[in-house]
Amino acid sequence: MSFFKLKLSDQINKSLTENRYIKPTEIQEKVIPLVLEHKDIIAKAQTGSGKTASFVLPILNLWYKQNYEGKPKIRCLVLTPTRELALQVATAFLTFSKYMNKKPKVVSVIGGESIGEQLLNIQKGCDVIVATTGRLLDILKKKQMDLSNLDFFVLDEADKMLDFGFEEELELLLEVLPKKRQNLLFSATYPTKMLNIASKITENPIEISI
Ligand code: AMP
Repeated sequence: MSFFKLKLSDQINKSLTENRYIKPTEIQEKVIPLVLEHKDIIAKAQTGSGKTASFVLPILNLWYKQNYEGKPKIRCLVLTPTRELALQVATAFLTFSKYMNKKPKVVSVIGGESIGEQLLNIQKGCDVIVATTGRLLDILKKKQMDLSNLDFFVLDEADKMLDFGFEEELELLLEVLPKKRQNLLFSATYPTKMLNIASKITENPIEISI
């Protein structure tokens, strides 16, 4: 199957070709059409399966179609267990939006880097936040981030997040997210803890396993 069958925009397809993404991986083939249909998803997928593009591509496609005007508002929040993964996801948003007439502003909200600069970039206005939990909650406690316009919430490597003991933090975060949003959850394993949190985050999710 070719990427063209997934009905992503021409601009996104151009960036895929440039990056030698010719054929979607199995997870991409399954997840992309469902995200485009606004479904909530719980996907069992390992690192290396191509899971990043499986959510970045359709979110970019949907975001662009909304044709938002005015100062950017945070429409997408991706939460990852590590800084490295957060930066990889942020890079994917930039790579695949390269040919879009209007590109989302992406801010990484991660520990170990200047919080001042991150706050400034948030204040300037951004569309996508890719965050690790600790730094995200620091900024939320300072009331420096408005998540009330969120359309997409992605939890990447959810099992790892729980291994790191972020269950309580996740619950706190859920309280400030708008109720109506699309949720995409990725996890390599399905321990009970993960399924508990998944049931709190998602609504009528479609489960995908590869
Ligand atoms: P991920 O599982 O998202 O971390 O992706 C693993 C690696 O596979 C990354 O280097 C991606 O750039 C690459 N990749 C993901 N999907 C594709 C694809 N459909 N075609 C070629 N490379 C891909």
